[in-house]
Amino acid sequence: MGKSTGFMEFPRLKRPWRDASERSLDYYEIYTPPNKNKLKLQGARCMNCGVPFCESDHGCPIDNLIPEWNDLVYKGRWREALERLSKTNNFPEFTGRVCPAPCEGACVLGINEPAVTIKDIENSIVDVGFEEGWIRPNIPDKRTGKSIAIIGSGPAGLTAADQLNGVGHSVTVFEREDRIGGLLMYGIPNMKLSKSVVNRRVSLLEDSGIVFKTNANIGIDIESETVLQSFDAVLIATGSTIPRDLDIPGRDSKNIHFAMDFLTQNTKSLLNSSLSDDNYIDAKDKNVIVIGGGDTGTDCIATAIRHGCKGLINLELLDQSPIERDALNPWPLWPVIHRTDYGHEEAIKRFGNDPREYATLSQEFIFDAKHNLTGLKTNEVKWQKNNGRFEMNIVEGKEKVWEADLVLLALGFIGPDQTLINQMGIDLDERNNISAAHGSFETSKEGVFTAGDCRRGQSLVVWAMNEGRGAALSIDRYLQGSSSLSAPMIKLGSEER
Ligand SMILES: Cc1cc2nc3c(=O)[nH]c(=O)nc-3n(C[C@H](O)[C@H](O)[C@H](O)COP(=O)(O)OP(=O)(O)OC[C@H]3O[C@@H](n4cnc5c(N)ncnc54)[C@H](O)[C@@H]3O)c2cc1C
Ligand code: SF4
Repeated sequence: MGKSTGFMEFPRLKRPWRDASERSLDYYEIYTPPNKNKLKLQGARCMNCGVPFCESDHGCPIDNLIPEWNDLVYKGRWREALERLSKTNNFPEFTGRVCPAPCEGACVLGINEPAVTIKDIENSIVDVGFEEGWIRPNIPDKRTGKSIAIIGSGPAGLTAADQLNGVGHSVTVFEREDRIGGLLMYGIPNMKLSKSVVNRRVSLLEDSGIVFKTNANIGIDIESETVLQSFDAVLIATGSTIPRDLDIPGRDSKNIHFAMDFLTQNTKSLLNSSLSDDNYIDAKDKNVIVIGGGDTGTDCIATAIRHGCKGLINLELLDQSPIERDALNPWPLWPVIHRTDYGHEEAIKRFGNDPREYATLSQEFIFDAKHNLTGLKTNEVKWQKNNGRFEMNIVEGKEKVWEADLVLLALGFIGPDQTLINQMGIDLDERNNISAAHGSFETSKEGVFTAGDCRRGQSLVVWAMNEGRGAALSIDRYLQGSSSLSAPMIKLGSEER
């Protein structure tokens, strides 16, 4: 273990973010560089528990060998730490930056002390690995002669591609966008995950032998049947891309956009022209309302601030979460608590107050004679338990009108695009996601597998990677009868989270 008394000697110290007022003026990553000496002491806090709950059902979805690399980091053996980390995690530079770290919620130290800074340590191991030039293309010794098409280049598709190429299959990844990465590229903004970090990994995968085809919308640019006929197996990893709408009066006013249009266009314009081509939805000098929270809402807030918005409000339908875990949410469950993410922190610095308004129901968009949005009418709601279920009631007399020039809808996603799925004649589940069991990842069509948000519904990068590894194992077994690949254990609740 790290240091037997480390957890008593050293306090938890997170790798700091850059100052909020400084970083919100640019699109560089919010993180400060790793400090190896400080991180060693953080590794020393790990107690190497007999049962490492950080790897349990409620911990890391990809079974990262956390106590092992905490110990190696404490001893300064960074290269070995990278080797252990690479056994379970194909892309620690993504999870180290964007994972919400369920492992830390399940850390045993977290029962009565702040948890080990697992995510920071993970991120630093891989950053050191890249700095030192230890991370090289993974070129297989020999090829199997089998070919696999992967449709969609998000974390699920990329993880499966890496695994399958590693055992010698010939992998082609089709992506309908002009750049590879899925939501890692066009979703999560630069300040949280630099696109140079995504491109660096994509180059390594290319150098490993994976073929990438962009601007290839399967089902539209290329017939699904052509793909089915040309490959020995197919993996559908097309994400959950249909946004949930808000069907209230005035929805057709100008300047109401889905969050993903706002975020995607911004990143594209930033990468193509440093925002000089004007091909993006500009929040400059506007009163912006973001409806909906989560990562998407936060990313909209942070992007609108970088544009120089005049005012910013973030509406949430639910109540504010408690500051500390409540009795129904004990360790080692994911702590449902109030968090101030990077975008909220930046808004507080810029405007002097937290932009979030809770228990607020959007009721009507208000517009002028030219149909331009001018405001949003809302009502306060109260959440009450009735027969064990939460029920929402409108509070009379608490109607409010907010000034608004731009509204961004960050209300989640209702499932994958159906074009390709219909063409292939694949069964859906009751939520309109592709039907396949976690563990087998086989669809109703022979030789066609599925992984990631298009199967489980909108989720997390680390769960997409869990599914990418699992699907790769199933595909390898399907093609070869057995497999040397490893996949994460099937965890309690693997389907839900
Ligand atoms: C704004 C935003 C911020 C987020 N932030 C975080 C975060 O901080 N941390 C976290 O863990 N998770 C975050 N998430 C969730 C996370 O990004 C997703 O759960 C994850 O990317 C899902 O991976 P995936 O590979 O299943 O799909 P995606 O990443 O959605 O990739 C699917 C890809 O398939 C392509 N595609 C679709 N149809 C076709 C077709 N017919 N032909 C070819 N290509 C096709 C799409 O263009 C896309 O590139 C965020 C999500 C959003 C929307
Ligand atoms: S991938 Fe996420 S859950 Fe797993 S160790 Fe890293 S931060 Fe924790």
